[in-house]
Amino acid sequence: MELFDETHRRAIAYWKNIANRSAFPSAEAIRGLARFREPFPETGAPDLETIARLDDAGAPATVAITGGRYFGFVMGGVLPAALSASWLASTWDQNAALHVMSPLGAALEEVTIDWILDALRLPSGCGAAYVTGATMANFTALAAARHALLAREGWNVEEQGLFGAPPITVIVGAEAHASVLKALAMLGLGRNRVTTIETDRQGRMIPESLAEIPPRSIVCLQAGNVNTGAFDPARDVIEKAHAAGAWVHVDGAFGLWARVSKAFDHLTGGYDLADSWALDNHKWLNVNYDSAIAITRRTEDLGAAFAIGGAYLLPGKGREPMYYSPELSRRARAIEVWAAMKSLGRAGLIDLIERTCAHARRFAEGLCAAGHAVLNDVVINQVLVRFGASDEETRRVIKAIQDDGTCWCGETTWHGQVAMRISVSSWRTTAQDVEDSLAAMIRCAKA
Ligand SMILES: *Cc1c(COP(=O)(O)O)cnc(C)c1O
Repeated sequence: MELFDETHRRAIAYWKNIANRSAFPSAEAIRGLARFREPFPETGAPDLETIARLDDAGAPATVAITGGRYFGFVMGGVLPAALSASWLASTWDQNAALHVMSPLGAALEEVTIDWILDALRLPSGCGAAYVTGATMANFTALAAARHALLAREGWNVEEQGLFGAPPITVIVGAEAHASVLKALAMLGLGRNRVTTIETDRQGRMIPESLAEIPPRSIVCLQAGNVNTGAFDPARDVIEKAHAAGAWVHVDGAFGLWARVSKAFDHLTGGYDLADSWALDNHKWLNVNYDSAIAITRRTEDLGAAFAIGGAYLLPGKGREPMYYSPELSRRARAIEVWAAMKSLGRAGLIDLIERTCAHARRFAEGLCAAGHAVLNDVVINQVLVRFGASDEETRRVIKAIQDDGTCWCGETTWHGQVAMRISVSSWRTTAQDVEDSLAAMIRCAKA
């Protein structure tokens, strides 16, 4: 097929050229997106012409997150095996809702869930659901928590709703990710009903600030703060929470992956004792967007929260994906996760995590040596740096770095100070990428 050959050729050309590209699209490329703004065509265009238009106007306006010098937010690249698997997966177009709709999708979900539990040293036999991102993984796990806490009181929240239900207390750290609050809002638990626990300079919950834990509480821990990479002290908090009968949920979007390496046990120890976990695959595992999983210690809690009936949706004998997740029809995200984990193996995954963290330490060291202030303890792959003495100067340098195009880093505010955030999350980042990016940062700061 000429169309597929041409598309393949274009994709490969993009992949090969990524190292020569600016980390962020030029203003001209973004202006070029105007070419898409036309009225809905009355007649169809030929496929080859359609793909040419998409690639010619679209590719230049993409953000080079698959390259080695993109350090914005916390966004992984895509491993070659995961990308190739996604080509096949798109070609197969599987619907992963039910076993009978995709035996492959169902089988790879089971395999990859077992592998992830093994890799992260979480209890085997946990339940899990594939979802789009950590926001939905937080939502999904917290729905299971809501079910379990109310079921203990004889209240079936899925049948009866929340009106008149015994109240649930939700406890979060002051630096909890905004997506946890969004999930609480979606679940009827309320963003502002939370009890907020004080955090330290790194954003870690201070366990002493966790006073009495009321009955029917959910305690939300964070494994990897988006700014600092810091981990809440799991062991102390979980012991206390469980003594009070609380459910402990972990937002481990990217940081939980550090559990693959024993080198981070001082940070990640005790997280296996929680009741549920949210984990992104599209960040540190480097699979394509979008992909995450929600994990619960007891499969039944997920099953109860996401049960569904329907005359034509008959369950098979095995695990039926849609009985554990908010969605019915969805793409088979386990395909790329399988390919990523198969191609890396445990050794490759440990290397990916340790190598990106080493790159982050080199950034911190290089920036400190040049006289810039690193605001966080660089415990994993996140670095916060401030340039000069003011927010204005830091903003000026961030803008200059972004305009320079060698690399891309975003702005954040940490404890009242503007800072630049460097997140090394891509398998593709090399030592040379780090040196080139450091040189660009230092050059822009001097100018
Ligand atoms: C990225 C992130 C999220 C949100 O994840 P999405 O995949 O963007 O939905 C939640 N929590 C933490 C700690 C994160 O880093």
